[in-house]
Amino acid sequence: MEKEQVKCLIIGSGPAGYTAAIYAGRANLSPVIYAGLQPGGQLTTTTEVENFPGYPQGIGGPELMEDLRKQAERFGADIRYGVATKADFSHQPYTITIDDEKEIEAQTIIIATGATAKYLGLDDEKKYAGMGVSACATCDGFFYRKKVVAVVGGGDTACEEAIYLAGLASKVYLIVRKPYLRASKVMQERVMNHEKIEVLFEHNAVGLFGEDGVEGVHLVKRMGEADEQRYDLPIDGFFLAIGHKPNSDIFKPYLDTDETGYILTEAGTPRTKLPGVFAAGDVADPHYRQAITAAASGCMAAIEVERYLQQ
Ligand code: NDP
Repeated sequence: MEKEQVKCLIIGSGPAGYTAAIYAGRANLSPVIYAGLQPGGQLTTTTEVENFPGYPQGIGGPELMEDLRKQAERFGADIRYGVATKADFSHQPYTITIDDEKEIEAQTIIIATGATAKYLGLDDEKKYAGMGVSACATCDGFFYRKKVVAVVGGGDTACEEAIYLAGLASKVYLIVRKPYLRASKVMQERVMNHEKIEVLFEHNAVGLFGEDGVEGVHLVKRMGEADEQRYDLPIDGFFLAIGHKPNSDIFKPYLDTDETGYILTEAGTPRTKLPGVFAAGDVADPHYRQAITAAASGCMAAIEVERYLQQ
């Protein structure tokens, strides 16, 4: 198998990966970055980004990622297409296999592989992607001011997103498959007592409809053991909040993760339990999951790499 040695390997090309590449490039570390399955990361699937500082008029998600890519290239980052398919951190230098056909031996590694929002798996979610379907209320909620939206999920994220959206929308339906919420007590109370939020327990979304975007959702309501009622609910936006899956599978044998798979790092730093291996962005962040927080942790990871290599 082809082999290559690098000083600093960055896996993933979202805001964390590219920011790490900008800093590592400017520190003359010749970073090599593998872009992964979705070059540019989750932001390439959103339309307008209005909360990334420095863009008073907002910027398209794909444009923002293109700018970050160019900025990383300007400082010498070697950006390549390819997916990390295997990791061997049992000894140094650490080895990452790319596309099952090339081994990279790296003195330092920044894992910035992100997380993937879970979807229900409906064909209509793809059909209306960017046209009323979203997995991020903070990103897209603003476009639903005074409109009617639905949020799917019954955990803390779903409740948080429903409350956030209720500050903008005229009405929020929370579609919950069980007869109860899984969220923490305080979040449950806030949701149940919010005048704009209506919780639809024991409901499942089975499809969406609309001409040029989402105009409604097909629902199935469970009525006792065997019975169910099907009906359509008019909505303008459909938000998924049924959890995220961090892209950490190949690293799990070597690093500590929480029960969902988020890589555990030393508090307030991107340091993992292995020297020279750092985790930045959503793969290590179950709490904030914002482009700006990912970028910040990418910056921290690159500074850590620089200090580690100086030792
Ligand atoms: P959770 O796993 O806690 O909740 C997921 C929710 O989505 C559950 O209600 C689940 O239903 C539902 N769900 C999953 N799959 C489907 C499906 N196919 N169809 C319909 N519903 C589905 O994920 P969260 O993202 O909400 O939270 C993740 C972690 O982060 C949790 O530990 C949470 O406490 C934490 N968190 C904390 C916050 C805070 O403290 N402020 C804010 C946000 C998250 P069911 O209950 O039936 O399984």
